[in-house]
Amino acid sequence: PISLSKWEFQHEDTELLAKKLGEGAFGEVRVGRLTTKDPKKKLVEVAVKMLKSSADSVTRDQVEELLHETRIMRKLDHPNVLRSYGVAVLREPLYLMIELCSNGALREYLKENHKTITLADKINFVLGSARGVAYLHSQRILHRDLAVRNILLTEDKTPKVSDFGLAELTDRYEMKEHCKIPVRYLAPETLELFIFTPKTDVFSFGCVIWEIYENGQQPHDGKNAQTIRAQVKKREFLKLSSSAPEALRRLVAEKVFVADPENRCSMTSIVQCVETAEKTVK
Ligand code: ATP
Repeated sequence: PISLSKWEFQHEDTELLAKKLGEGAFGEVRVGRLTTKDPKKKLVEVAVKMLKSSADSVTRDQVEELLHETRIMRKLDHPNVLRSYGVAVLREPLYLMIELCSNGALREYLKENHKTITLADKINFVLGSARGVAYLHSQRILHRDLAVRNILLTEDKTPKVSDFGLAELTDRYEMKEHCKIPVRYLAPETLELFIFTPKTDVFSFGCVIWEIYENGQQPHDGKNAQTIRAQVKKREFLKLSSSAPEALRRLVAEKVFVADPENRCSMTSIVQCVETAEKTVK
């Protein structure tokens, strides 16, 4: 018998169910039932991210990215951060077992349900996501790809920050040239100096708040990267919808979408502001 760590499973430990949850760059995401390692071998419903094994097999980069993502997720334990159960890597396709979020990605949820979502739902999405990102920063993790497409919703509509493909265990990250970056969400100093810090996550989180109040619309929709960069250079930033609470609109305009990171607030300040605003919404 092979000895496996707490985070390693055999493929047989996960029973794949028929339900397909989605498809990503890695491959399919399916519902599964995982036999956990606790003494009672409790079963949990999980989402299984499968690394597609194409004819020419998976590339080293894909495997590296998947393992990078799981290594970061293992360190995390917070109600608003997607939980990882472990991996099965002894054969292909590789499996990544993660917390099941049956309401799917927040972006699609906002688009599909915009007629029925209440302002109380929206402030809860903002608050939960903000708490998740504040927790990441408390653990010295930069997310680097915050957007509503990377926030998942559980059955009871709790938001979970997910997709740690670009995340880094540091509080300052300098980008190498020619890397793929999510331009429409980036702070001026990332676009101009190629650096990522907790303050650049705060700027991207401003875009998340904007997306929530715009029902899942993408920032700068229809504009190309060059146009977006020119706008940021002129310090023209997004403005929150008038449906957002006044205090939050003010915070985002004065302390989030600002050019100088020194003048930008922390995720903790966003959480505090939203906690206060939440009381006025209900
Ligand atoms: P990328 O392509 O950058 O990896 P992605 O979000 O497109 O990101 P995945 O993370 O593989 O790709 O997810 C694909 C889709 O599967 C998501 O959009 C979502 O609908 C669904 N999904 C992913 N993870 C879960 C989960 N834990 N619970 C429920 N559905 C999920």
